[in-house]
Amino acid sequence: MSARIISGIETAKAIREELTVEVANLKQKHGLTPGLVTILVGQDPASESYVAAKNKTAHALGIHSEQVTLAADTSEAELLKIVDTYNRNPAIHGILVQLPLPRHINEARVLFAIDPAKDVDGFHPVNVGKMMLGEPCFLPCTPHGILELLQRSGIETSGAEVVVVGRSNIVGKPIANLMLQKRAGGNATVTVCHTRSRDMHFHTRRADILIVAAGVAKMIKGDQVKDGVVIIDVGVNRIGQAASGKAILAGDVDFDTVVGKAAAITPVPGGVGPMTITMLMKNTLQAAKQAAGID
Ligand code: NAP
Repeated sequence: MSARIISGIETAKAIREELTVEVANLKQKHGLTPGLVTILVGQDPASESYVAAKNKTAHALGIHSEQVTLAADTSEAELLKIVDTYNRNPAIHGILVQLPLPRHINEARVLFAIDPAKDVDGFHPVNVGKMMLGEPCFLPCTPHGILELLQRSGIETSGAEVVVVGRSNIVGKPIANLMLQKRAGGNATVTVCHTRSRDMHFHTRRADILIVAAGVAKMIKGDQVKDGVVIIDVGVNRIGQAASGKAILAGDVDFDTVVGKAAAITPVPGGVGPMTITMLMKNTLQAAKQAAGID
């Protein structure tokens, strides 16, 4: 048996086509263009490329996007002032502050300063709280992308044993919570593993759906999963550099040893990654519609 590949590239493409039509309709019927601002502090190369990709995608979909690039020594007060300016800018519906921020800036204070109605990353406590309660809100982009991937790939989560490896605020905790929700795409029995888990492989071996977001290259091997498992590999690890200078990436799952056992798996790259940016665009469109009172 060789696993079905769950392509994030294909799924993201389909969603982006839907969003392009929706954005065009919004402009035509309501004269409204969704607006996104990305705020980057410092010159981290990975962050620079993520922000560039977000702006490029926004542009391709017809979303207005602005990029603010600030020096690494920008003070927290200055950054908060910029966030506040965009909170009050009616042409901007989504504000994204690229993480990580330089150490002298308190990340939580900055994220909490974003108007929850413009929090298209879904990190503000108001949105996190609503997500927990199962209320409509902006879902964090990577977990949101995983939900879409599972649903659009026809993978049933109801009653499934879902094991999540990783408990970060941006991936592990929210995806575990979403899988637990009492609605379509949820209804799973969820176990969350982390570095203090006593016997992690006891759990990974009984997973029907295994979601791995640990940031450790190829940590999950074929003998640590059961036959027929569905694997969502969130990890993006740089394991080398090609002659072209391009980074060689690997997931948190050892693809070669699991592919013969799994029923379906997301590749790295080309799995969860493309979905994350797409969900940011979806949230920005939703923010624009909500701001204008359009259902
Ligand atoms: P993070 O904040 O570093 O959290 C990693 C989590 O994994 C922690 O909860 C940690 O446990 C757990 N962990 C680490 N090593 C482990 C081990 N050996 N056994 C069990 N648990 C272990 O990472 P993150 O931000 O969630 O990101 C995780 C990975 O996903 C990274 O590779 C990141 O690049 C990738 N990612 C990809 C996307 C995308 O769009 N594709 C988006 C976000 C993140 P403790 O809590 O006990 O320390």
